[in-house]
Amino acid sequence: MESTELLIVGCGPAGGTAAREAARRGIETVVLERDPVVGAKRVCAAGLRPGFCEEFDLPREIVHLDPPTITLTTVKRTYAFQLGPSHTTTREELDGTIGALATREGAEIRTSALFRSLRRDRDGIVVEYADTVAGTRRTIRARSVFLAQGSSARLDEVDPRFRYPAWSAGLITCLQYRVYPERPADPRAYGRLELHYYVSPRSGRNVIAWMFPKRDHLAIGLGIQAKVPGAELRAELDAFNLTVERRLFAGIPFTIRNEGNLLYGGLPRPTIGGDGVMVGGTAAGLVDATTGEGIHEAAISGRIAAEAVAAERGGDAAPAYERGVKQAFYGRLRHRHKLMTLLERKPVRFDVLFRQLEESPRFFELLQRDRNAFTPLEWLYLYGQAAKFSLSALRV
Ligand SMILES: Cc1cc2nc3c(=O)[nH]c(=O)nc-3n(C[C@H](O)[C@H](O)[C@H](O)COP(=O)(O)OP(=O)(O)OC[C@H]3O[C@@H](n4cnc5c(N)ncnc54)[C@H](O)[C@@H]3O)c2cc1C
Repeated sequence: MESTELLIVGCGPAGGTAAREAARRGIETVVLERDPVVGAKRVCAAGLRPGFCEEFDLPREIVHLDPPTITLTTVKRTYAFQLGPSHTTTREELDGTIGALATREGAEIRTSALFRSLRRDRDGIVVEYADTVAGTRRTIRARSVFLAQGSSARLDEVDPRFRYPAWSAGLITCLQYRVYPERPADPRAYGRLELHYYVSPRSGRNVIAWMFPKRDHLAIGLGIQAKVPGAELRAELDAFNLTVERRLFAGIPFTIRNEGNLLYGGLPRPTIGGDGVMVGGTAAGLVDATTGEGIHEAAISGRIAAEAVAAERGGDAAPAYERGVKQAFYGRLRHRHKLMTLLERKPVRFDVLFRQLEESPRFFELLQRDRNAFTPLEWLYLYGQAAKFSLSALRV
């Protein structure tokens, strides 16, 4: 049977980064990607945190814009924060570039390769996949496996040790329009990332919506944490899109490309490593529940997987991987999930929180100094903010 040292499932930011960084360390790496072209079908607003390209050594050409501001809008008003410059891109460019760089480092990316199952034997982990072009089933044995197939991962079926009954309740149904105006939109559109938090007047459900500007289009979309029928989601997005149109591209003819996908907004999976198998990115639940962002977490989990495989060569990389990811993210992601649950229960709380953030330059100082990882002291401060906020919210 064919074999490799590291087998990766999925070539999104998690799988692609793991492949690139493992191959760079001389680890024999094969990636299975179900799509025929890496990144071509990903639906995402593709907003990247400040410093992302430098952190992952990615070329500036993939960046469309660097909006310096993020606006958070509630039903009452808009709060503007200078966090930037963030980047916007598209997933064709982001995933495609990471994939190409991984190939250059020596990883082998097999496209139209649909992962089916895995089992362990004496010599390693045997992965079965379908070659969807040839219409055949194939197997490959690996010492380590990194599962990074995103929100559609059915891990309960793949490996019982990753079972997580709360997973499906955390899934968010998303719909996004790529809006191509025939002329540039209002200049205000290009200087900020917009996030909107509101309760749908149609369904009473909590909605998180966004407008992220790109070179040639605006990514306008929304997500609802529930299984929502397509027609309801479309009506919701049409209504939101109209509000953006009135503000930012009124009177300019435009065309729309539709995109739908699942996002995950629950807690991270309790178990993400065991007997040579590691789970990363969104498949592990590494998404910030307050914003829906997960690209940075995905890429970092890929990096930690590559480091763990390199450090444990010949042994089981999964325990070191699980420890590394939990240390890097779990505190923050659990905190964000708790915060979002608290906010959505009573939407007036969004205003209470955003007002506090606006009035607290210290919070933004912390974000500026260390945007991606908080020290325990900083966490104490953030928890303090959250506690203060929840107390004042109770008085509203
Ligand atoms: C509408 C929307 C907007 C978003 N906007 C942002 C944003 O602006 N910023 C941000 O940081 N995050 C955003 N996110 C979240 C972000 O998309 C994810 O966190 C990120 O894509 C996770 O990367 P990943 O590598 O874990 O998984 P994915 O990017 O989902 O990649 C998984 C890969 O696995 C492949 N795959 C799946 N199943 C199989 C299989 N059986 N066999 C082989 N291959 C398989 C897929 O084709 C895909 O290429 C958004 C998500 C959505 C849905």
